[in-house]
Amino acid sequence: MIEGDYRGRLAPTPTGYLHRGHARTFLTAQERARSHGGKLILRVEDLDRDRCKSEFVDALLDDLSWAGLSWDEGPDVGGPFQSYYQSERLEHYRETWDRLRGSETVFPCDCSRKDVRLAAQAPHSEGGELIYPGVCRDKPFDFEDEETALAVNWRFRVPAGETISFEDGNYGHKEFLVGRDFGDFLIWRKDGIPSYELAVVADDIAMRVTEVVRGEDLLMSTARQLLLYEALGVKPPAFYHCPLIRDNDGRRLAKRDKAASLRELRQVGFDSSLLGP
Ligand code: GLU
Repeated sequence: MIEGDYRGRLAPTPTGYLHRGHARTFLTAQERARSHGGKLILRVEDLDRDRCKSEFVDALLDDLSWAGLSWDEGPDVGGPFQSYYQSERLEHYRETWDRLRGSETVFPCDCSRKDVRLAAQAPHSEGGELIYPGVCRDKPFDFEDEETALAVNWRFRVPAGETISFEDGNYGHKEFLVGRDFGDFLIWRKDGIPSYELAVVADDIAMRVTEVVRGEDLLMSTARQLLLYEALGVKPPAFYHCPLIRDNDGRRLAKRDKAASLRELRQVGFDSSLLGP
């Protein structure tokens, strides 16, 4: 990569107030973008209509600035994309779904969560994730039009038994066994919105992101996303995962931990230059 062509992103989800862990990861992303003389994008991942709130969007813009973050493209500063809010980019995700549909790497699925849970041979991966039992993999569906097709769930048909490996910029060699660690994952939800995996890949491609910096809780998602890049015929970005901050009991910080929120730290006069990375 030519120095200066680096494009990184901050991708917060406004379902609560950001905490110290987010700030630490985002500051690492900012540092990496700056050290490469590159650009940083802010993309608000607000697809979940029930859980994302506009008050949290306002708060996150404010809290990020307080934490010492600034971005070259995105809310408040603009850029070449019509919107940096995922809720306004549905058309783009539909196009990506359509491309996957054309490549037959995805299939519609009308199993309910309960069906998946009850399926006799649905084992859990070590991480506790339910492995989709494959019920709808070869089931014929007949859709009148695109709208009806988009009103069911769609899953990615994973190559069970294959190992997906990648070199993480922070953790080094990582590998996941498809079918054991994760199964056919959701790419589209019947309520008309793409899954996290699809939306992130569609946006990272469109926004020409060259390195994804995010929390280590998404390491396995990277393996899923690499399958999506392959299916779409696009070279994936580099990945750099950051350790999560844990509380005194070893639990990772969550948005519900009010004491660790940037809001709260700011209110008690915490010095933001101590946030990291
Ligand atoms: N929006 C996701 C989150 O807040 C992060 C997505 C990503 O970095 O790929 O957990």
